[in-house]
Amino acid sequence: MTTRSKTGNVAGSRLKKTTDSSSAEKAPVIEISAVLSVKELASLLDISDVDAIKRLMKIGIMANINQTIDFETAARVIAEFGYEARLSSRAARKSSTLLREIKDQQLQQESGGLKPRPPVITVMGHVDHGKTRLLDAIRQTNVMDSEAGGITQRIGAYQVEIDGQRITFLDTPGHEAFTAMRARGAQVTDIAILVVAADDGVMPQTLEAIDHARAAGVPIVVAINKIDKPEANPDMVKKQLADAGLLIEEWGGDTICIQISAKEKKGIRELLENLLLVAEMEELKADFTRPAVGVVLESQLDKTKGVLTTVLVHNGTLKVGDTVMVGTTWGKVRAMFNEAGKQVRRASPATPVEILGLNSQSQAGDTLNVVPGERQAKALSGKRELELERESSARPKAVTLSNLFDQVSTGEVKELAVILKTDVQGSMEPIRTSLERLSTDKVKVRVIHSSSGSITENDVMLAIASKGVVIGFNTTAEAGAQRLAQLENVSIRHYNVIYNLVDDVSKALEGMLEPAQVEVIDGRAEIRAIFSRGKKEKIAGVYVTDGKVTRSASVRVRRQDKVISESTVSSLRRFKDDVREVSSGYECGVGIKDFNEFQVGDVLEFFRTEEVS
Ligand code: GDP
Repeated sequence: MTTRSKTGNVAGSRLKKTTDSSSAEKAPVIEISAVLSVKELASLLDISDVDAIKRLMKIGIMANINQTIDFETAARVIAEFGYEARLSSRAARKSSTLLREIKDQQLQQESGGLKPRPPVITVMGHVDHGKTRLLDAIRQTNVMDSEAGGITQRIGAYQVEIDGQRITFLDTPGHEAFTAMRARGAQVTDIAILVVAADDGVMPQTLEAIDHARAAGVPIVVAINKIDKPEANPDMVKKQLADAGLLIEEWGGDTICIQISAKEKKGIRELLENLLLVAEMEELKADFTRPAVGVVLESQLDKTKGVLTTVLVHNGTLKVGDTVMVGTTWGKVRAMFNEAGKQVRRASPATPVEILGLNSQSQAGDTLNVVPGERQAKALSGKRELELERESSARPKAVTLSNLFDQVSTGEVKELAVILKTDVQGSMEPIRTSLERLSTDKVKVRVIHSSSGSITENDVMLAIASKGVVIGFNTTAEAGAQRLAQLENVSIRHYNVIYNLVDDVSKALEGMLEPAQVEVIDGRAEIRAIFSRGKKEKIAGVYVTDGKVTRSASVRVRRQDKVISESTVSSLRRFKDDVREVSSGYECGVGIKDFNEFQVGDVLEFFRTEEVS
C-alpha cells in the first residue's frame, strides 16, 4: 500500500494509522467529519477534483466540487483507496445531538406545553361547485386584519377569527393539491370541506374528493352550495352522498352538513362554527413554546425582495432571527409577513407566514426546521440533498405486487391500498368485493378509490400518498400517469379478465407471485496465508471471522471494496482432513473453483441463495 505524504488536515479530518496491532492487514483509518465537501475529499485523498467527481459518479452520486457529501458516501470512496473511514468522535457527537434535537422538535405529542391550535382546512369538490367563491366569501367576511381594509395578499393560506378562535384555510382548493402534498410526505389538512353544488349534485370529482380525504383519514364537513339558485335541490344531494357512503347527521350518520350560498354569503358563519366543533372533537394541539417545525406552501422569487417562502407553522413558534433548514436550503428569518402583508415577529402553530431570508427557493411540501445555527444548517443541507438524491434513485418504499409479500412479512405493510379503475361502472363492484374478500388476518385489502375511466395522474398521486397500487381493468393509463408512476416506482397493473386480476393479487398476498431470490450470507473469512497444491492450484489459509464456512457454499472474494471473483467452494480442510464446515474463530484451508489469484488480506464471503415465496 502506498503511503501518502499528505495527512489531509481538512474539514476536521485526520489520517492516522490504526493502532490495532492484531490485524496487520487492516486498512489504516482516516477520521472524517459527518459531512465534507467534494473538494475536501479530493484533497484528503490527494487526488484531483475531477478524479473525485468521477469516483462519486461511479457510485451513482452526481456532485460538483463545492457540494457536500455525507459520511457513508465519503467512506465508500475512501475505501477504494484502501483506507477505512471513521467518523471523528467530535463529529459523531455533534451530528447525533443535532439530529436528536430535530427529531425532538418533530415529536409534537410530547407531554406538557400542549395547547389547542387552530384547525387547518382544505376546500374540496367538483369543478365549478364554488370552492374558490367560498374561500373568497370566508376571507371577505371574516378576515382578521381589518386595518388592511380587507385587502389581502394571496400567500397560500389565510386565517379567520370567529368568537375569538382562529381557523386556517389553505388557499389552493381541490383534492389534487391536497394529495400532492401528502405524496410529498406533508399532511397539513385537519378537516376537509366538501363543496357540492345543490343544482348539480354529486359528480365524479366529488366522489374522488371523498376517497382522497378518507384515504388520508381527514374528517369531512359537507357544504351544500348554491342554495340561492331556484333549481337547487339539497335533498337530492344528501341522497347522492348517502349512496356514496357518506351519511350526514340528518340521515343518521355523523357527517356534518351545512347549506350555504357562497354568492350571497349565507350559512358561512354556521359553517365556520361547525368547523370549530369538529376541530374540538379532533383535539388538535401543539406546543407553542418549541422551536418551530413547518411546511412550505409556496415559494417564489421576487425581483426586489428575494426569495419569498410561505410556510405554515405546524408546531412550535417561528421567530424573526431563527435559523431554519427548509428542504435542502436554509437561511435566517429576516422578516415575516402575515396574509394582510403586515410584519409579524412571531408565528404560532397553524399560522401561515411569508418569510424573507432563505438562500434559495424550496418546494411546496418541504419541511421547515429551526436549527441551532448557521454551521449546522450548512452541514445538514448537504446531508439532506444527498438523502433526497438517494431516495429518488432508490425509492425502496413503494409497494408493488411483486414485493408485497416481503413488505407484509416484515410488517411494513398491513394494508394493501388499491386504486381501481375500470372501463365501465358495472365491473367495479364485483372486482372491489372480490379483492376485499382476499383480506387475511395479516393484511387487509382496501380499495381506497374506484371509478371508471382511464388511469390519471391523480390516481397515481393517491397511490404514492397511500403507498398503494393502481389496478386497471380494461382501461389504459394516461401518459402523465405513466410517467409519474415510473418516476415514483408506483405499480400500475392492467388486466382484462377479472379472474386473473383477483388471482394475481391473491398470489401476491401469499408471496407466490414471482418467487424472490434472497441471498443469505453464512460467514466471512480473512486470508492469512496462501499455499500451493499441485502445479497451479492455490489454497487460501483463512481465519473465519464470523458465521461459518460450509463446503457447499457459494463464495465471493473481496479485495478492499471490490469483488474479485464469485464461485463455489471446491475444498474445505482443517489440518489434513476434509470437513463439512468450520465455525468462526477457527482457521482452515479453502479452495475455490476456477480461482487461484488469492492475496493475503482478501476477504471471503460465503453465501447461498434461497427462494422465498
Ligand atoms: P370552483 O371551480 O369550485 O372553484 O368554483 P367557483 O368558485 O369558481 O364557482 C363556479 C361558478 O359558480 C362561478 O361562476 C361562481 O360565481 C358560481 N357560484 C359559486 N358559488 C355560488 C353560489 O352560492 N350561488 C350561485 N348562484 N353561484 C355560485
